[in-house]
Amino acid sequence: MRVRFAPSPTGYLHVGGARTALFNWLLARNDGGVFILRIEDTDISRSTEEAIEAIIEDMRWLGLEWDEGPETDGDHWPYRQTGRAALYLKAAHRLLDEGKAYRCFCLPEELAERRERAVAEGRSPMYDRRCRDIPVDEARRMEREGRPFALRFKVPEGETVVGDLIRGEITFLNTEIEDFVLLRNDATPTYNLAVVVDDLDMQVSHVVRGDDHLSNTPKQILLYHALDAEEPAFAHLPMIVGEDGKPLSKRHGDVAVGRFREMGFLPEARINFLALLGWSLDDSTTIMDRETLIAGFSIERVSSKPAVWDDDKLLWMNAQYIMSLSDERLVQA
Ligand code: GLU
Repeated sequence: MRVRFAPSPTGYLHVGGARTALFNWLLARNDGGVFILRIEDTDISRSTEEAIEAIIEDMRWLGLEWDEGPETDGDHWPYRQTGRAALYLKAAHRLLDEGKAYRCFCLPEELAERRERAVAEGRSPMYDRRCRDIPVDEARRMEREGRPFALRFKVPEGETVVGDLIRGEITFLNTEIEDFVLLRNDATPTYNLAVVVDDLDMQVSHVVRGDDHLSNTPKQILLYHALDAEEPAFAHLPMIVGEDGKPLSKRHGDVAVGRFREMGFLPEARINFLALLGWSLDDSTTIMDRETLIAGFSIERVSSKPAVWDDDKLLWMNAQYIMSLSDERLVQA
């Protein structure tokens, strides 16, 4: 089993990201597999070095050490997307050469205007595929003239099935999937292209991530197939909600992992608490040390229902750990 945590360093590590990292780590440790940390910094304007450092520090505080990734070894160096541009270009050009992608000369302003008009008229805002049928010779000529273009994926006919390990099979009609962009007109890759190229290159066997990515998964499966590869197994973790049922956010209080450290929460308590956000060992055990979590963790026992964040439970759990720790450990913490 090869799993990965792939944060975008556009801010601090929040509890949702930490839960995703933890579940991947537990799966790898349970199975004797490999846990990879990959920094997804293709969005250069929003990614920062400070965020990368903070994520690494928080992961270490939580004790989620990685086997491959920054500041470690691994056969798929670099583990940072900005250093992997050549791989994305190669895959995108292969798809173009094989007629599975096409040049789109529509300008961003035109696209935005058409989208707005479509929404106002009650039509689908999806790209209308108008550049799909430009003959290849004509498209090449336009490229030579210096016209900027993006590369779009030619979504085939049919349907795409996501066999999710938590939710079962989910079928998407390809008519509802946009001819999505692979390379922007400055030749930078989009998330969907970069993530597939990296997961393939890093031989990721299981993609375990938040369910906010579920709508990307059929696009990624189509890309795997277009690259003549088999897709990994997928598991989409249920979202974390506050007690009001709304997605957990700053409105509910602190969501940054770093803040919990500052407030004096013990990493043992944090890990135990995060593990129970969507997973349970047996519906009754609450206090579990790392070894018990590793031994007992399985995707089969992850729920598809939203996980509710409960501050009182976290405080109670932290108190349990404080009471059980030796004086020396408590002084260290
Ligand atoms: N970089 C993505 C994010 O932070 C993760 C994508 C993935 O796990 O596939 O949301």
